Amino acid sequence: MIEERDCKRLEIAKHNLQKIALICKVSTIVIVIMYIFNEILSTFPPLNANEPFTFYFDFNFLIILFNLAVMYILKILRFKVTKSNIGKIEKFINGYVTILILIGAFVSLLDRELYNQLMIYTLLVLTCSSFLLLHLKQLVVSLIISITVLIIGLFILGGYNPEFKHQVIYLLTLLPISYYISKSHFYSYNRSLQLQTNLLREAEITRELTKKLREANRQLELQASLDPLTKLFNRRAFNDYLKEIKNKVTEEPIHLSAIMIDVDCFKLYNDTYGHLEGDIVLERLGKVLSNIADEYGCFASRWGGEEFVILMVNQTKEVADSLCQTVIKEVRNLAINHRVSHVDSFITVSIGAYSEKIMNESQILHCINQADLALYHVKENGRKNYIHLNNDFYFEGAYRKG
Ligand code: GH3
Ligand code: MG
Ligand code: MG
Repeated sequence: MIEERDCKRLEIAKHNLQKIALICKVSTIVIVIMYIFNEILSTFPPLNANEPFTFYFDFNFLIILFNLAVMYILKILRFKVTKSNIGKIEKFINGYVTILILIGAFVSLLDRELYNQLMIYTLLVLTCSSFLLLHLKQLVVSLIISITVLIIGLFILGGYNPEFKHQVIYLLTLLPISYYISKSHFYSYNRSLQLQTNLLREAEITRELTKKLREANRQLELQASLDPLTKLFNRRAFNDYLKEIKNKVTEEPIHLSAIMIDVDCFKLYNDTYGHLEGDIVLERLGKVLSNIADEYGCFASRWGGEEFVILMVNQTKEVADSLCQTVIKEVRNLAINHRVSHVDSFITVSIGAYSEKIMNESQILHCINQADLALYHVKENGRKNYIHLNNDFYFEGAYRKG
């Protein structure tokens, strides 16, 4: 809340400084034009042939001098409105208004050549109240001081006469008029500022929500593609990944390694230790495979049950070999007791792998089938091992079922 008020103060001060610079420029130009029309053009022959041009000190020059001084200050100091100098800048703005209006009052009193003595004063008061965003108390104080000066001055210069009476009535009317102009200007600016702030805040909230929503969607998508038990990618994600590979193959040939992993004698494990313990084993295997997949930069998923599949794109056969060995080693290193296993006293896995340069979509399935057959072969030949085939040596036969 406090910050919002500060922001408003800063905005108002910035607005006022801009307007002061504008008022200085415009009023200087107006006074110069007025002087040219009033003092120079009127001396030209068709208008007034008898009156030669003589320089006459126009008291409006006081305003020009003041304007030049203010413009110089604004240019030299190049006010950067900040929280720390806002108080000083507000004082400068209030001082500017008070002095400008007072100069207007003095010019009106001293310059007897003007068409209308109070015109300059009126113009300055209305300009300040309609262009600047002023604290009403400050404006009223400046107005009362200047009107008092004017009334006393007019009385001293002209005495109490009907004209004086009219001028006093005029000045007293000017006071509420400029007060209400300033007030309505201030309120409408405040309202638009408030609306702007609200809009910005709403935009910020929307941005935040969109970010959260995007993150939630990302999480949801990730969860939908993860196997809840092993936290590896699930079959759905596997199919999506296959599609990606298929798209890649249409552009250029790729080297694909399919690596099928199956836990040895897992049914026996479940029967001995229970399904819950079996789940814990699968969970731990998931972690191991996930780390290895990260290390090798490949895709690991749960194929189903206690079987997993890893796909490796554009890696050599040697790298795929090394991955198979790492998996067997790391699983064995978990040292999960399996006292009834036919192959070891700990949990072990068998792996069937197949690597090939893939040129078309059908070769992808062939690759997976061959990996599966290789796995079957390992199972048939003692388990706890791996076979890695390629197109030089592969199994003739159909995809093993079950
Ligand atoms: P092999 O060495 O030939 O692979 O023998 P195996 O016992 O591992 O193979 P089999 O296909 O006979 O049994 C697989 C077992 O895996 C059967 C099933 O109870 C178990 N299994 C499959 N999914 C899960 C699971 O999510 N949690 C648990 N605890 N067990 C599972
Ligand atoms: Mg098994
Ligand atoms: Mg199996």
